[in-house]
Formats: sequence, structure tokens, C-alpha cells
Amino acid sequence: MVVLAEAVERATRLGQLAVLAEAAGWAGYRRQLRGRFEDWTRRERPVEGSAPDDSQVTAEEWALFGHYRAVLRELRAEDEAGWSIWGSHVLGSNPPAELRKLGSVVAIDPTSLTSANWRLLDYCQRKARSMIVTLPFDHEPSLSELHAGVESIRQRFLTWGFVEEPEPLGGFSYRPKGLDAIESELFRSDSHERTKFTLNAKSGLKILGGPRGEGLGMLVAREVKAHLDRGVPPEEILVLVPRLDEDSERIRETLLAWNLPTDRGGSRRLANVPAVSALRLAMRLSVEDWQASTLVQLLRNGLIRWKDLDQASPSHRFEAAAAIRSTRVFRDRENLRNALERASADEKKKDRTPRIALKAIDQLSEVLDSVVGSGPWSVQVERAQRLAQSLGLEPEELEPLWDALDDQTWVRLGLGPAIAEESWSWREFVAQIETIVSEIDTPAPPIASGNVRIEPVDAIEGARAKVIILANLAEKTFPTPNAVDLDVTATVGAGSADPANLTYSREMLRFARVAGSADDQLVLAYPMTDVNGEPLLPAGFLDDLMRRLDEASTKACVEEHPRFDPILIGHRDLAQADADARVLAVALAAQGREEEPLRTLATLPRHLDALRGTADAFEVAHRRRIEKVFGEYDGRLADASAIAAIRQEFGPEHAFSPSQLESFALCPFQFYQRYVLGLKVVDERRELDEDYAGRGSEVHRVLEQIHEQAAAEEAENLIERLEVLIQTEMRVELEKLDEKESDLPQVLQEINTRRTDKALKRYVCQFRSYFGRPDGEPKPHKFEVAFGQSEDEDDTASHPHLTLGDEPEVVRLQGKIDRIDLVSREDGKTSFRVIDYKTGSNPSNKDVFDGLASQLPLYALAVERLVLSEEGYEFQDAGYWNLREEGFKNVKIKDWVTYRGELITFVLAMVSQLRGGAFPIVSRKPDCRKFCDYHAVCRVGEVRMVGKVWDERPRLKEDE
Ligand code: SF4
Repeated sequence: MVVLAEAVERATRLGQLAVLAEAAGWAGYRRQLRGRFEDWTRRERPVEGSAPDDSQVTAEEWALFGHYRAVLRELRAEDEAGWSIWGSHVLGSNPPAELRKLGSVVAIDPTSLTSANWRLLDYCQRKARSMIVTLPFDHEPSLSELHAGVESIRQRFLTWGFVEEPEPLGGFSYRPKGLDAIESELFRSDSHERTKFTLNAKSGLKILGGPRGEGLGMLVAREVKAHLDRGVPPEEILVLVPRLDEDSERIRETLLAWNLPTDRGGSRRLANVPAVSALRLAMRLSVEDWQASTLVQLLRNGLIRWKDLDQASPSHRFEAAAAIRSTRVFRDRENLRNALERASADEKKKDRTPRIALKAIDQLSEVLDSVVGSGPWSVQVERAQRLAQSLGLEPEELEPLWDALDDQTWVRLGLGPAIAEESWSWREFVAQIETIVSEIDTPAPPIASGNVRIEPVDAIEGARAKVIILANLAEKTFPTPNAVDLDVTATVGAGSADPANLTYSREMLRFARVAGSADDQLVLAYPMTDVNGEPLLPAGFLDDLMRRLDEASTKACVEEHPRFDPILIGHRDLAQADADARVLAVALAAQGREEEPLRTLATLPRHLDALRGTADAFEVAHRRRIEKVFGEYDGRLADASAIAAIRQEFGPEHAFSPSQLESFALCPFQFYQRYVLGLKVVDERRELDEDYAGRGSEVHRVLEQIHEQAAAEEAENLIERLEVLIQTEMRVELEKLDEKESDLPQVLQEINTRRTDKALKRYVCQFRSYFGRPDGEPKPHKFEVAFGQSEDEDDTASHPHLTLGDEPEVVRLQGKIDRIDLVSREDGKTSFRVIDYKTGSNPSNKDVFDGLASQLPLYALAVERLVLSEEGYEFQDAGYWNLREEGFKNVKIKDWVTYRGELITFVLAMVSQLRGGAFPIVSRKPDCRKFCDYHAVCRVGEVRMVGKVWDERPRLKEDE
């Protein structure tokens, strides 16, 4: 990798990269490039020769190839392809003593040969006492296309004097008939004229179609199990796949879930090793300017040892992560710290998590600040190792990474002091690590014997097995779309055949040889539907094969299942994984069909916990379904100690906010989740999302400030004065932003400020029409008036709680009223008006009278009883001031005295219910699932289906 990087560097310096300048930096492209270099090296293309074609891209790649080989020469090193060429030359000129005389040599199916391979074979044929070469070949003219790729190879052996012996008649007669069908019939040029295959269940060929992924995995697992049950040793069963990918992993997982002896798989990309991922997160943090999302991921990473946090409590790291998320700061350590400092100083919230998060940031800063910096490669590697150690990461898992970095150190040293001592910034070093881990695989563990292996087709060339299962034969796997390689002639000998056909022939032969490798059984498995149930096409060669089967053969050899029912009731033989077996057994018992499978599972210890959990879930579902009244499984608590705890928490000392009461009025179960259980809603706001709540608070703040000032000045022309004050305030705010550098948070803040500016300009117009209302001349009187809050919770003084009812069932309320206006009426009296600012939509009048929006009338009550109780002003009205739309609009309460009495009774009844542990799942809004934050954990659908009614529901008026 580092050699290629140096080659790119040299070519760039010489101005040789024009079209590839950018691509040469991409990890994916470099991987491709290495493949191309390997190919050119194997073909022994002389670097001083011309590029393989005239295109600009090839010319630049060829220049890179020249530098690449030059760097290797300077290092006196070779890559894998180069070593094989070197070895083949040494063998000819100066062979090691033990290879000077060879006994018998057997070359099995050498069908794809490089020049180095030919040198080796040439050496063998000259030095060996005897030599046998097997080649897949048939003189039958109609099979010439299939064997076109082998023809030139065969000719060469014949030129060397080899004597050709066709396979003796009946040589493979022990194999079932179906296995030969592919080799001898499928690819015949006259196949359209020949009769269809006639096969039966004993012909050794089976074709399986199933749902992609787990479904196909179960079909493969069933075949493997059947053969193991018949006594076939696991090593004699090979599962082949076009490539190792997600689908092949599904097959492996299924075999393992069925407890079949299965090889656990080979290497994995270094980037996917958990300890390496954790280290990369930590390394990236300072490069990404302490991005909050990376920090959160790091805190949640279970591999990292957080010395102080983990010692105090295992949940501290998660609490710290939650606190960081809720700051809404997206990056910058200082900004994060400031936001957490502010949150931890907010006594009102009594939240300890910001402190824990600060501790985590400080701990991580200490570690990172000691390693982040510039330095030569070897110094940076040593720093990364120190960082890994400080984070307590598993050293063994990081070994492949250190090996890869050491290789790079070695190459840099080999290229001379200028390169070895070159300084790397931390950012450059981290970027290089990202490239390395995305390109390098960890070494594959040794293959354990006694296991079924899953391998890519090309990895087992020449292997034989009793049972071969070729799976994942989706469209474009056989033949592959890139099977046509016009450059292939260089390998097999120019002029032997049309290159395109030759490549296609090789692809046919590849497929036929898989079939030829099975002694007893060949299973071809293909995904026939995708995860959404949409049909998929099989591989082209498989499709050809299926078309060649006659009707009886199709019946006997092909088994297709577009989908499986989730409980596998129609496919019991597939319910072998523990989880599937439990689902099936429970389903059979629940349907009243059979109880025995469940009884059997219940005797096995490994199923017990899961079955007990299932039984409990059934009990809950059953109770929910049969009981017509709300019980403990749908929100009405029955446990006396739980109710006592709630009574304690929400007793006379508790100060309810109107939004708590509104939540209970809407749905007691929502209140239970939010305020009793304290379930927090995950804040998924993205960086560019608008901060509506923040803007609302800002508008409130500015309105309070300008009205306070105008009231203090006793301004003559209130409207003009407001206009001036708003303009001044917003100019000051915008000037503040002008002084700052415009990074993303600043830009977002500026957008917010400009929007606030717009809302306030609109407010002046609204105020003008408000001033002209016919019901009396209004005068803004008090702003942001708090009640029920202790003075140290806010800068401003607070009125006492609004207290309703009598001891011991007294209910205390707290809140903050946006504005109180005094209205001079025509009759000479002065009354008060309560105003609530809205930046969103107003609650409807109906919601106010039904108790779903009780905040405004409760604030009016607080004004009457607490704020203006001594002045003796009458209640005029209350209303919402919509800052986005029409400004002030009052709620039409005709008889305030009667309504006030009903409201108090309603609030007392609600609190009495909640203190008694009644939180039934009953929402006043039928479409609540669309907007409720807790819909994912709520069974309102089931409850509604049963038609449960909450008779004791407190009512503000007969609304239903
Ligand atoms: S989804 Fe509906 S019923 Fe369930 S908690 Fe939310 S509001 Fe209540």
C-alpha cells in the first residue's frame, strides 16, 4: 500500500496524473489499481514497454505502474505476483537441492496459467521421473466451445511430447447420472436439437430456490444436515458461493444456528475489527473538531475502559452520552463543555448527567491532548499505540493493525531518511489509517478439521467432495457480466480463439468443473425472491439447466419456495434453530394442534428462560384481551407499594405544571410514561434542522424586554416606541453575529436570528390591530410572570403556588404567564386579560373547554388569585397571541365564574385519579399514534379493539 502511495506521489510530482489526480486518492480505486498491477506483473509486461492501450486512463495507470515497480526495486522488495515470477526463474537457473530431482508429478486441471506457471510446469516435465497432467477436455465437436480455453494448453503439453489418454470409458461411472449432465450436455453447441434431460431424485442433482438470505440459508442447512445424518463426514461437504458476502454470511449463520459443524469463517476487513473501530473513533475526535455524534458513539462503545466513569457506575457512560446529545451542540469541545456547564448549573432540572459528561470529556481530553500532534510516521504510530493503551483496548485485536503500520514504517525507512522523517499531521495520519483499515484484511484463522466449509468457487479449484452445494446463484453470478475480457489472449495464447468467446468458454468451464467436483450430490441453490418478496432471476447457466429438464425431472430435482411462513408450520423440517423451534412449538400449541413439541422443548434447559418469557407475554396479552375494564396490563396499577410511591411523588408537595395536567387529560398512559417512569424521548434533531423551541424562547425574551422597557418609560405612542425598540434590539443581535466567524453553528444562529427578526416585525403590525380592538383599550401590564417557583430557580421573583382543593388532597400548580394586559373598558372599569404567545398553531376553543388545553384558563385563575388579587380587576378574557399568523385571538369563555368552578373540579379529579395509580391507555385523540412520542411502546390498538371504556374519566364538561 505504501509503495503504491509513493508511486502516486512521484507521478503527481512529475505532473503525470491528469484524469486520475483525484481518483488516485480513493481507497476503492487504489484497490482496483493494485489488482491491475498484479495482473500486469503476472503477465510479465515489461514496464519499459508501451501501455496496454491508447486511452489516457491506461497511460496514466501505466506511468503509475512504472513508478510502483521502481519503488519496489529501490526497496529490493517484491509483491506476491513478483515473487512467483522470481521463484519460477530461480527454479530454472538455480533450483534448491531438494527440487533438483523430482519423482512423480501430477498437475490437476491446470486451466488458467501464467508465464511463471508455465516455467514451473516446464521445469517439472524436464526434471520429473514421470508426470501426469489432467485436463478437462472432450474431443466431441459440439463441446469445443466449452473446452476452447483448454485447447491451447493441451496443445502445448502435446508439443512437449505428452501422450494423451482419454478418460477410460466408465471412469467416473460411480457418479450419479445427473452430475455428468452439466459437464457433458449443458454446454453442447447442438443442445437445442437434443432431447431434454431425464433425471430422477437419485440422479445426484438438486436445484433449490428460496427467499434470499435466511430462507435460502435454511434450505442449504437442511441439505447439509440430511447428508451429515446419512453419515457423510463434514469435510466431504463443501458449500460454495460466487463470493463471500452478506448472503454467504447468512448461510454460515444458519448452519451455526442449526448447530451443524461449520467453519466459522475467515478473515475480515481490518476496519470491521471492533477494537480497531473504537480506536479510529477516538483518533477522529480531534480531527472532526470534537463532533458530538462521534463522542456519543465513543461513550457507548463497550470496548473502551472509562476509568472513572465505569468505576462509579456501569450506566454512567450512557448517561454522559445522553447528556451530550441533549445539549444540541454538534461539535467543538469548548461549546460542548459550555453547554454542559450551563445544564449542570440548572438546579431546576436536578440532572446529574451533565456533570458526568463533563468528566468524560475531561478524561478523554487528557488522553487525546497528550497524543495529538505532528511527527514522523514512527512517532505517530507510537502515539496511536499509547492512545489504544490509555483506552484499555484489547491488545490482541489490534495486532494486525500494528503489523500493517510496522510494514509501512519499514518501507518508509527503506525509501530513505527524507521519507522516513517526513512529518505527518495528526489529520493526515488519521486519514492514512482510515485508508489502511479499509483495504487490509485480518489473517484468516486456520481451518479447523471436522467442519463443513463455505468457500468462494475460485478458492477451491481442483478440490473434490462427496457433496457440493453451490449456493447464492443469483442473476449475474454465472456467467459474471465482466466475463468478457478482451485482454485474455495474453494468458492463454494469442490467436487461439476469439477472445470474447474464449472468456465465455472459461466461465462455462468454471461452472461445469464445480459440477464435476461432486462425487455423490450437487445442489444448486438460488435466491428466487428478495426480502420484499419480489421475484429474482437465477444465474444464467442455472436457468439454461432448468430449461433442459423435462417435466418429470423438474418435479424430481427442483424445489422452489418463494416464501416461508414465519412460524414454519408448513416446513417443520426447517425449524431447527433454537428460536425457530420455539416459535413453531408455541404456535402449534397456541393453535391447539399439538402440545408435544412444546412439552419436549420445555424439558431442555436452554429453552427455559425464553419459554417462560413467552408464557408471561401470553398471559399479559390474554388478560388485555378478555378483560373489558382497564387492569394492571393496560395502565391501571394494582401494586399497593407502587401506588404509594406515586402518591408520595405527586402528593400535596408536588407542584404540577399545566402541561403535566394537559398530558394526563389527553392520555393518562402518556403521562405515566413521561412523568412517572421518566422515559425520555430520543432527540433526533439533525444538525441542519431548525430549532423551533429555541426561536420561540428568543421571541418571548425579546417581547418581554421591549414591553418591560416601554412600560417603564410610559411611552406616549406605544406602537411607534415598540417599533423602534424591536429594530434596535435586532440590530444589536445581528451585529453580534457579524463579529463572529461564520462556521455552521453561527450560520444557523444567524438564520434563526433573522427569522426572529421577521416574527418581531410582524408583531408590530399585529399589535397595531390589537390596539384597535372594540372591547377596550389594552395596556401591556406584566410580562413573564412566574408563580409556584422558588426565587433561586429564576432571576425574577415568583408568586406562590396556585393551590386548589383542601388538605390532604390539595393540588399545587406552578407556571409562567407570558403577559397580562389591563383593558380600559367603555364602562370605565379596568379588567385583566391573560395572553399566551404561540409560535406554532393555537389550541382550539374545543380543546380548552374539554380540558385538553387547560393552561390558559389556569393561568387566568392564577392571575385572579395571586398576581392581581389585591387590585380587584375583573377577568376580561384570555387568549393566544399567534406570532406567525393573526396575532391575538381570545377564547370565548362566556361565564367565567361557572367555568372556573368546573375547571377546579376537573383538575382535582384528574390528580385524584393519578394519585390512585390510574393511568389507563385511553387517549382523547383517536389519531394519537401519529404524534405521540410513546406510540412505539403503547398497545392502544389492542385496547381499542376490545372496546375498553374508562368510566371514571374526569370530565370538564359533557363533551362526549
Ligand atoms: S399512543 Fe395514544 S394511547 Fe398510547 S400513550 Fe400515546 S397518546 Fe396514549
